[in-house]
Amino acid sequence: MIYPIVKYGQRVLETPAAPVSQFDGSLEKLVADMFETMHAANGVGLAAPQIGLSMRLCVIDTSCGKDANARVVLANPEIIAIEGEQTEEEGCLSLPDFRAKTLRPLRATIRAYDLSGTEFTLSGEGLLARAFCHETDHLGGKLFISHLSRLKRDSIKRQIRRMAKAGEW
Ligand SMILES: [Zn+2]
Repeated sequence: MIYPIVKYGQRVLETPAAPVSQFDGSLEKLVADMFETMHAANGVGLAAPQIGLSMRLCVIDTSCGKDANARVVLANPEIIAIEGEQTEEEGCLSLPDFRAKTLRPLRATIRAYDLSGTEFTLSGEGLLARAFCHETDHLGGKLFISHLSRLKRDSIKRQIRRMAKAGEW
């Protein structure tokens, strides 16, 4: 099932999400639906608040559906180590058509739970490290535009307000 993606302006995107506590069949189904929703939208990451669910859950696939082994499910993730810096163009399915150079760590290690409720750690570099940070931010109610300069952020917000007024957001 493909969920509609919540856009910037909805409160759920800026609200810290609640931890996942039930690791059962319905979580598995939700995660499968999140991958389907993310792939349909050509995203590399999707967090539960982006489909309107305030849960500390996200999926990542930096292969865009080409490699099943690239799929990562993170329940209750925490970034536990970061190293270096990278500044690349970043976007978000909840802010369609807005992209901006965003500073992130070059490498990041995450601690999370998998679908069976087992804790694991995973390290990523480059795009994967960026995705870890971007998605974990979502679960804290934070969007990538919060990492931009105030000038850039205000300009994006202004454009969105204008689009919303015209019924285009
Ligand atoms: Zn996002």
